[in-house]
Order: sequence, then C-alpha cells, then structure tokens
Amino acid sequence: MLVVMTESASEAEIAEVAALIEGTGAHAHISSGETLTVIGAIGDREHDVRVEALGLEQLESVDRVVPIAKQYKLSSRQIRHGEDSILDIAGSKIGGDNFSLIAGPCTVESRDQLQAAAKAVLEGGGSMLRGGAYKPRTSPYSFQGLGQEGLDLLAEAKAETGLPIVTEVMDARDIEAVLEVADVIQIGARNMQNYPLLTELGRAGRPVIIKRGFSATLGELLMAAEYVLKEGNEAVILCERGIRTFETAYRFTLDLMAVPVLKEMTHLPVIVDPSHAAGRRDLVEPLSLAAAAVGADGIIVEVHPDPQAAVCDGPQQLEASEFALYAERVAAAAALAGKTLAAPQQTR
Ligand code: PEP
Ligand code: MN
Repeated sequence: MLVVMTESASEAEIAEVAALIEGTGAHAHISSGETLTVIGAIGDREHDVRVEALGLEQLESVDRVVPIAKQYKLSSRQIRHGEDSILDIAGSKIGGDNFSLIAGPCTVESRDQLQAAAKAVLEGGGSMLRGGAYKPRTSPYSFQGLGQEGLDLLAEAKAETGLPIVTEVMDARDIEAVLEVADVIQIGARNMQNYPLLTELGRAGRPVIIKRGFSATLGELLMAAEYVLKEGNEAVILCERGIRTFETAYRFTLDLMAVPVLKEMTHLPVIVDPSHAAGRRDLVEPLSLAAAAVGADGIIVEVHPDPQAAVCDGPQQLEASEFALYAERVAAAAALAGKTLAAPQQTR
C-alpha cells in the first residue's frame, strides 16, 4: 500500500501515520519528494489487508491510499512519485541529469597496470574506477583475481587519484574486506539471484550495482534490487550487460530497450556495460554511444593500458590511450539525452 500524504502534512503527522502502519506489522518506508511525502506500507498480502483496515484516508494529513500494483515495491517509480533517485557516490552523482562513466580494467593485475588505467580514467574525465579483485570465471582453472592484494592496490589507486572505486564481491565472507575500499559494490550477472548475498549487501549499506543475469527478466532484476532496498539500503544502481538470446553471432545481446523500459518501471539509476555484452573492442564505442543516447544514467566499461597482455577479457578492453577520446564522444551522446558527465571529486 502507498499512503500519499497531503502537501501540508507535518513531520508529526507523517510520523503518526508511519507508526500506525508499523503497528500492523508492516514496514513503513518514508519517501520524501520535493513537495510530497509518500509512505510505503511494505509487507505481505495480510499486512495490506490490515493497513487498508486502518482507514488512513480519513485522516486530514492523508491525501489518498493506493495499492502498489507491482510485485516490486521499493524500486517502483510509484513509491517516489515519479522522481528519479540521484545517488551521491563520494561526490560523484549518478541518476537524474547526471551521467556517470565508470571505467577501468576487468581485473586488477598489478600496481603498474592499475595505476596506468586509473591515470587514463582520471585524465579522460571518467567518474569512477572499476577493477575486480574477486573474479567470477566460467572455468575454475582460470585466474580468479588477486583477492586481498587486489583490494590493496585499488585502495592505493583511490588515494592516488581520488576516483571512487567500484569492485565486485561474490562471497559474503569477503564483504568486510571489500567495504574497506569499495565506494560501490558490484554484484555480477552470475550472482544477481544470490539472495543471501543481496541481503547482506542491503545490510552493509554501501551503494550497490546489480548486473542483470544472463536470462533474467527486468521484473526479476527489480526483485533482486528489492532484496537490497528492503534492508534499508536505498543506493542501488541497475546494470544492463547483455542477455542470452538465440543469436550466436555475438557474445550476448545488449538489450538497450531495457533502459527506457526500466526507467518507466523504477526510480533507480540504470547503467549499461557494453564491454561484457560485446566481448569485442570494436563494438564497445558504438554500443556506448547508443546506450548514452537512449538515456542510460551511465556506462561501466573496461579499459586496460595493454589489452593484448590482459589476464582476462583482453579482446574487449579499450586501449587506455584512447579513453579520453572515447569519453568525449560518450559525453556528447549523453548530452543528446539531456545528461552531463559527472566529474570526479578530487580528494587529493
Ligand atoms: C565484470 O564486470 O567484470 C563481469 C564479470 O561482469 P558480468 O558479471 O556482467 O559478467
Ligand atoms: Mn571483464
């Protein structure tokens, strides 16, 4: 249920309604927009019946009570009354009119490699630095990431450049260590439906990027987000990274229609990963331009100082020396959709 308060409702009246909702056993999720406050009564069907029975619409402070039509609730656009969520990640904004360019190597390989990539990202105007220390590899015999050593190198790169760090966690036992350096924690496509992990990240409170599973519907992606939001962590970013279809001519099918459709369904920022969808460097820029023009809130892209020597995903990583030009073109495409590339906050 959604309880839409009147424009004149006071803080005390909002608190009163929230308390009445909590009294039914449902959770009261207060969302304050520019003019209106909406309180989501979150629970199961029985909670809905009990909230309905409260007759809240009779209170003067309440404008109306409406059911949340969808299964996804906290991520639905309805709950924020149509407004976009804008997240502030260490000074770098994502969502609304802001476009975030997250770039860096697939995996952290060495100090030299990461520093060279980070320098290119910073100088090219990237918003955040990505790099995996724990890698989800299809084969257990492939390089699995540097682990703690990789996290330490990311911390150095962050101190050096001031760029916020995006890095993946696959195992709840690593969350504590990852929280030491990550400004945003990435949930990979393979873990989109790892519900205990999502719940733990909801509790950890750090911003999370959730990548769409290879065969997940948009509804399922939003239900994954719901696991994080439900724990009180409102900083969730969704990422389209290509899905499996019958087409075999390329690695994955980048579903760019997901961007405008997700934006209709949810208030959460939506970004696109053209690197893993394409698997080929030559497709990365055109797909990035299309993603920016279709209204994505950002891009997460792989960049390496020497892709030929990369330990993983070499064929798709952009040359670090070409990143600045790429960033300029992407920023121009984002401008077509009314968005401005978010400059990184310098902490140095
Ligand atoms: C990655 O971003 O490095 C990655 C492995 O992506 P995905 O989970 O989308 O395959
Ligand atoms: Mn990769």
